[in-house]
Amino acid sequence: TSADVLGLRRQALAEVQENYYEDPPRIERGWRQHLTDLNGRTYLDMVNNVAAVGHAHPRLNAAVSRQWNLLNTNSRFNYRAIAEFSKRLADLLPDPLDTVFLVNSGSEAVDLALRLAQTFTQREDVVCVAEAYHGWTIGSDAISTSTADNPHALTTRPSWVHPVLAPNMFRGQFRGPDAAARYIENARQAIETGRPPAAFICEPFYGNAGGVPLPDGYLPAVYETVRAAGGLCVADEVQVGYGRLGHHFWGFEQQHVTPDIVTIAKAMGNGHPLGAVITRRDIAETFSRNGYFFSSAGGSPVSCTVGTTVLDIIADENLQQNAATIGDHLRRRVEQLAQDHPMIGAVHGMGLYMGVELVRDPHTLAPAPDETAAICERMLDLGVIVQPTGDLLNVLKIKPPMCLTIESADFFADMLARTLRDGW
Ligand code: PMP
Repeated sequence: TSADVLGLRRQALAEVQENYYEDPPRIERGWRQHLTDLNGRTYLDMVNNVAAVGHAHPRLNAAVSRQWNLLNTNSRFNYRAIAEFSKRLADLLPDPLDTVFLVNSGSEAVDLALRLAQTFTQREDVVCVAEAYHGWTIGSDAISTSTADNPHALTTRPSWVHPVLAPNMFRGQFRGPDAAARYIENARQAIETGRPPAAFICEPFYGNAGGVPLPDGYLPAVYETVRAAGGLCVADEVQVGYGRLGHHFWGFEQQHVTPDIVTIAKAMGNGHPLGAVITRRDIAETFSRNGYFFSSAGGSPVSCTVGTTVLDIIADENLQQNAATIGDHLRRRVEQLAQDHPMIGAVHGMGLYMGVELVRDPHTLAPAPDETAAICERMLDLGVIVQPTGDLLNVLKIKPPMCLTIESADFFADMLARTLRDGW
């Protein structure tokens, strides 16, 4: 039963690996944008940005089992899947980003990006953006100052980490017409004072706040300052990249910049552990001279087969276009709801990367975290899986599989309307 599994889970698994619900469903299987529990009840999965092409995709299953049956090994051997996938990945990035490292997760990708930048510049310091989340490894955790994801962040930050103000135009320290310039100036000061940095890293959409777009011109100005100071610019695309935005494949396109290093994970493996760092050849080559890198399972034949097949599916099923069309439709529906429900303070994001910010008061923007949690519980009763995000946990995180249909988008909007109308 669900309770048996929960009991066993709580007994054997670290407590911190808890999930969000008070009485979570016992999920048995997935199919496209749906998950089905032990009792045969089906839920719409609006939150699973890992299963980007959908759960249990038959074409992916077939490719993976074929490769499992042939060969899985570490990346030292000369097999076709790693060459093919690396080339496919490199071709997705603009010049001069042409060299790939393969790892197993987003945290590893971020750690590796920092280490590459530190090795290349022979410097230690990293400028990052406050209230962000970049991962759990020592390096990625050090630059993750989100208090929701990392309650100890403020006390454990090492001296090489320099967070600048979160450039959040909705809820940050600066708002209004001159806010962009003030956030840029704040970053400039951090980059130009003190020890020159190895890198500046941030997500091209402010993910931990539910996908708030960066201020116009923020990355062009900050990247220019970082480069003038001899540092490298890292874009963390783990969550936002890979087509989910619909109107762009990569988040950095929205800001019209090309980073020096890009980190990716999540969507590229559709749930299989897979991450990557893509950079310039001269930056990558610093490891041949001064550094070392080897990942036992990163870039394995199975991982690379997953990666190539996911890209084939995104292309052949037009999933990026689907994310634009369905995402725009969903946004219109939620914005309509906001007219009757002032509790919807804002709809952030783009495409199927969306955050619905819930507030107690539309004027003060006082956050509504308890209501957000209760609404998620009620939505579960109605057959929709949606979860809280944001540093204040008052944002509905909407990052469904990119194969979401218009009927499913409408079902979500109808159930949200019902919950807001009837209460929770
Ligand atoms: N960077 C960002 C922006 C993320 O959202 C995450 C995961 N939520 C990570 C890095 C870490 O990825 P992983 O959980 O695969 O280690």
